[in-house]
Amino acid sequence: MPATDPCFDEQDGMLSVEQAIGQLLAQATAITETERVDLPAAAGRVLARDLASPIDVPGFDNSAMDGYALHSSDIETARDAGLPVSARITAGSVGARLQPGSAARIFTGAPLPEGADTVIMQELCRLAGDRLWIETAVTAGANIRPRGNDIAAGSTVLARGTLLQAAHLGLAASVGIGTVEVSRRLRVGVFSTGDELVEPGKPLAPGQIYNSNRYQLNALLAAQGCEVIDLGSIADDFDTTRDTLLQAAAQADLVMTTGGVSVGEEDHVRAALESVGTLRLWRIKMKPGKPLAFGHAGDTPFIGLPGNPVSVFVTFLLFARPFLQVMQGRTGTGPGRFPVRAGFDYHAKQRREYVRVRLHTDQDGMPAAEIFPRQGSDVLSSVAWADGLAEIAEESSVQAGDTVSFLPFAEWAR
Ligand code: AMP
Ligand code: MG
Repeated sequence: MPATDPCFDEQDGMLSVEQAIGQLLAQATAITETERVDLPAAAGRVLARDLASPIDVPGFDNSAMDGYALHSSDIETARDAGLPVSARITAGSVGARLQPGSAARIFTGAPLPEGADTVIMQELCRLAGDRLWIETAVTAGANIRPRGNDIAAGSTVLARGTLLQAAHLGLAASVGIGTVEVSRRLRVGVFSTGDELVEPGKPLAPGQIYNSNRYQLNALLAAQGCEVIDLGSIADDFDTTRDTLLQAAAQADLVMTTGGVSVGEEDHVRAALESVGTLRLWRIKMKPGKPLAFGHAGDTPFIGLPGNPVSVFVTFLLFARPFLQVMQGRTGTGPGRFPVRAGFDYHAKQRREYVRVRLHTDQDGMPAAEIFPRQGSDVLSSVAWADGLAEIAEESSVQAGDTVSFLPFAEWAR
């Protein structure tokens, strides 16, 4: 690689993780096509337009409790002499104006009658004969949910770019919106490279291994709401690689591959991509997952992940996921990092490390990270065991009890 390649920093020819993410995201553009879907089908989709509420929520002042509605000027009378109960208002009905000097039986969610401004919870009241008595101190104006308390008519309730999840669907429903406009699903064309690969369920010949990347990558993409165009796995051969790249690029918004991006003569992805488009190969100062290829096959963006299964997982989460989320039109997608205590000693050499860890609660009730004993980039059991990654700066030592940044897998399943 020439030293002047803008993808390499001058000092040691490697990009930091942040530089690589920055370069990548600078090339990401959102797809513009949208479709309108019913609310139940909108889970996991990306909202394409801001959503404004046509109504106030709640639409009327209502009771927060099962109890009795009265006017605050009658609280003293209720305490000294009791009040007659003149009405009964259930949720879904509308009561008449409250007669002064009386109370109304009222239920949670029922509209507050005109003439009342306070609800007393029933546990604080006593009914004797047909009169209501209050036995403890009560506050004027208590237990009312005022109109518009949650949402004011005309206000934006959901911003475009939101990944719609349970709470968002509930909120849209609460303002009466039954269909939403979402971005079209992102189509991602995927294939694995490697002469050694065999699909699970088939017998292995000597020297062969099972293709695991295909299954984890497809599942990672599906969890991001992508439509996966799975082109299977291909041999380490220039022509096949180029043809498959073209085939994927013709059908997809984004092409992703695993393997074949190192510098060996059996790594054909780089040359194949260069023959049909443009390629940049980034050596990223991180472990696992140093090489990452990015480019275009024709106009279709391409991300070439490394071959080692752990590297696929980590580079997908750090690089491919933010890239495809921008393409999906999503906003606010940076991975969350949380401070936790290290329950281990570790030394990282020249590259930043993302070690697989599992959280438990230490004796002070604080989250602490336990490390998987084997951290090789081929050790997929480390990923299946872990809850997330601990980020350890290059040229640094962590001692048990130190604080480290934790990147939870759960956060990344979104
Ligand atoms: P490569 O980058 O193609 O040289 O691959 C690096 C390592 O990852 C090699 O040990 C490959 O056998 C392994 N590898 C590549 N692709 C896969 C895959 N789809 N599933 C499992 N292991 C793979
Ligand atoms: Mg290979």
